[in-house]
Amino acid sequence: MKEAQAKLTFWGVRGSTPTVDPATWRYGGNTPCLDFVAPDGTQFIFDCGTGLRMLGSRLQEQAGSFAPETHILVTHYHWDHIQGLPFFSPFYVDRNTFHFYSFQSKFLGRESLKQVFEAQMALPYFPVDLSAMSAKRTFREVAGGESFQVGTTKITARWLNHPQGAMGYRLETPAGIIVYATDNEPGDPELDRSLRDLAEGADVFINDAQFTPEQLAGSRRGWGHSTWQEGVKVAREVGAKRLVLFHHDPDSTDRVVDGLLRQARGEFETVFAATEGMVITLGGKEAADIHIPGSRSSLRREAQFRATVSGTREDGRSFEEETVVRDVSLQGALIPLSNCPRLQSELLVDIETPGAEGVQQKMQLRGYVVRVEPDREKGSAAVGVVFTD
Ligand SMILES: [Zn+2]
Ligand SMILES: [Zn+2]
Repeated sequence: MKEAQAKLTFWGVRGSTPTVDPATWRYGGNTPCLDFVAPDGTQFIFDCGTGLRMLGSRLQEQAGSFAPETHILVTHYHWDHIQGLPFFSPFYVDRNTFHFYSFQSKFLGRESLKQVFEAQMALPYFPVDLSAMSAKRTFREVAGGESFQVGTTKITARWLNHPQGAMGYRLETPAGIIVYATDNEPGDPELDRSLRDLAEGADVFINDAQFTPEQLAGSRRGWGHSTWQEGVKVAREVGAKRLVLFHHDPDSTDRVVDGLLRQARGEFETVFAATEGMVITLGGKEAADIHIPGSRSSLRREAQFRATVSGTREDGRSFEEETVVRDVSLQGALIPLSNCPRLQSELLVDIETPGAEGVQQKMQLRGYVVRVEPDREKGSAAVGVVFTD
């Protein structure tokens, strides 16, 4: 019997506004968008931030295998969650159908999401008008606490604490439970409970982690966002298996996000920082497989360097190992190791390089693990790192 598998992909993880600052490149600068393929093949999209454009290109490439019927769950109407809409190419293809879900905003009234659509495409804000979007679209307004079924997936929507309101979504599938709860601020007792009901026993709990605990306690209170510390607290209380820190602040460089993740890992075992391109597979042989494709590290060239690598294994123990690095570039390397380092952990790579007069020199590089591909037969792993300095 084929195992029920579900696949979640992150296309945009940045909050508030997109960033193109090179210092935010590693986690990514696109605003929120995820796609989720349920075990029965039903396609879902969470939010329509700028990450939606890249998802659109990917779906067009695989047009044959792409289900032309897609369910789009929108959390709320702030720009960062809707600004990708006009740039999603599958909207311009007749045979596609999209079912939109969101809530009725008291500022917009009936068919809020339809109005948001029309307003974005209205002249003079966009060069083509709505009639160019030939795909079929339906709009459904959901209420807080409401549950409904799409194929074999049960969806529950719940209110979160955010200016002008936001919905969190819980998707229960035969392969596991995904909870998408971004744009929420702790501190409202009723909505804090609502978040916990939503996240109860989740296999993957994606939570707003825009601010540091100090920022939230200070000037950023009331802006509608949360912290890694709150995420850890909720994950513990509800027995969530994995926590994903999401909605990174546009002013948080990769180094800042590394620091937040490090602190969170000090308190909760399985936490990851959402990264563009990150894929989580549920229901396979492993409890969950998380990886970040290495396609963004280009410019590799074949070379051979002896290296000593030290880092942290998946079980949290540190290791030091000698290896030969063959696949290296200025940005990163693919390193064969017998120790399996933890994804998104730091590695120190001491590379021996031939110096000016053929004298061996050592170069120490700090790397960050973006990919781990275990080779069970050989009992080793190909480890992709991006150099951070
Ligand atoms: Zn947002
Ligand atoms: Zn918002």
